[in-house]
Amino acid sequence: AVSEGEIMGYLYSKGIKPDGVQKLSKDMVKMVCREYDVEVIDGEQVRVEDMAKKKEILDEDDLDKLEDRPPVLTIMGHVDHGKTTLLDYIRKTKVAASEAGGITQGIGAYKVQVPIDGKTQTCVFLDTPGHEAFGAMRARGARVTDIAVIVVAADDGIRPQTSEAIAHAKAAGVPIIVAINKIDKDGANPDRVIQELSSIGLMPEDWGGDTPMVKISALKGENVDDLLETIMLIAELQELKANPDRNAKGTVIEAGLDKSKGPVASFIVQNGTLKRGDVIVCGEAFGKVRALFDDKGRQVNEAGPSTPVQVIGLDNVPLAGDEFEAVDSLDVARKQAELRAELMRDERITEKAGDGKVTLSSLA
Ligand code: GDP
Ligand code: MG
Repeated sequence: AVSEGEIMGYLYSKGIKPDGVQKLSKDMVKMVCREYDVEVIDGEQVRVEDMAKKKEILDEDDLDKLEDRPPVLTIMGHVDHGKTTLLDYIRKTKVAASEAGGITQGIGAYKVQVPIDGKTQTCVFLDTPGHEAFGAMRARGARVTDIAVIVVAADDGIRPQTSEAIAHAKAAGVPIIVAINKIDKDGANPDRVIQELSSIGLMPEDWGGDTPMVKISALKGENVDDLLETIMLIAELQELKANPDRNAKGTVIEAGLDKSKGPVASFIVQNGTLKRGDVIVCGEAFGKVRALFDDKGRQVNEAGPSTPVQVIGLDNVPLAGDEFEAVDSLDVARKQAELRAELMRDERITEKAGDGKVTLSSLA
């Protein structure tokens, strides 16, 4: 019930000059809705269907330019069940030794080459095992993982953090693959673990369910190849796509302040291609990309879909889970960052007030 002109006027008063055809960013939409006391239901906080999830990242104009992209994975599970051991094994054995350096640089994620049927396929592992990082990102509305690998120790079974991890993955609508780990150990009882999983609704395929379960030993590397193949199969079913030929957007997976480089952020590019020289807005931060580094610490000029990349050039340290986007100019970036900061400030005040009903005008 509000005229277009009025909304344009409001945006203008916020320093945004809409041209009538451009899309409004999510923050802008939230800002406008607050002004008019309209409740915003953030699609990312609602349980979404798979298609809706894909559409969050993809714009309509992408549809005819879509190409396959590698899956991005998170490993979750109870403490001491073997997440780090599994990540280490995969990193040691599957990150191509031929690549310069070979050793990953700890930018929060790394690419892994999986040989399947004579072809090499790529997948990306987030390097922050544990549901904390996942949970923190989810709380911020971020959606970076395509598949969750839940590690359960065969000599210990389902524990509280196992259930939590499963709940996180289910809430996010992310397919689950279970790695039943430590099968080399005395006292390992994988069948009991499968029984337990079934009792909480995760049924293996040979029991008529649809949750892949692979029995592994992360320590010895036993069946880890099977696990990776299963991952690629599930990924294929998901038909993961992106349009490399557009401005980049994605999510911050970690960020910090480096003494010599300044603010440093690791991104997962989720759509488009991020290039050196791009102007980006990232949460409340913005800037021009001065340098990009891949997961081997090598400088690169660009990073396409599903690529983890470290970025230098932001004016501030963003938060894990913040979204980034390449925009047309520093001017646009600055305004979006300011808008974001204003929104966050407002949200913090609203949180303090506790009733969730504070509007911009009542704060003025
Ligand atoms: P996280 O807390 O889930 O990251 O667990 P870790 O990877 O740190 O593993 C905890 C302990 O279990 C370490 O002592 C590992 O060596 C051991 N461990 C992990 N995977 C296996 C396995 O497949 N077999 C055996 N026997 N021990 C394992
Ligand atoms: Mg660990």
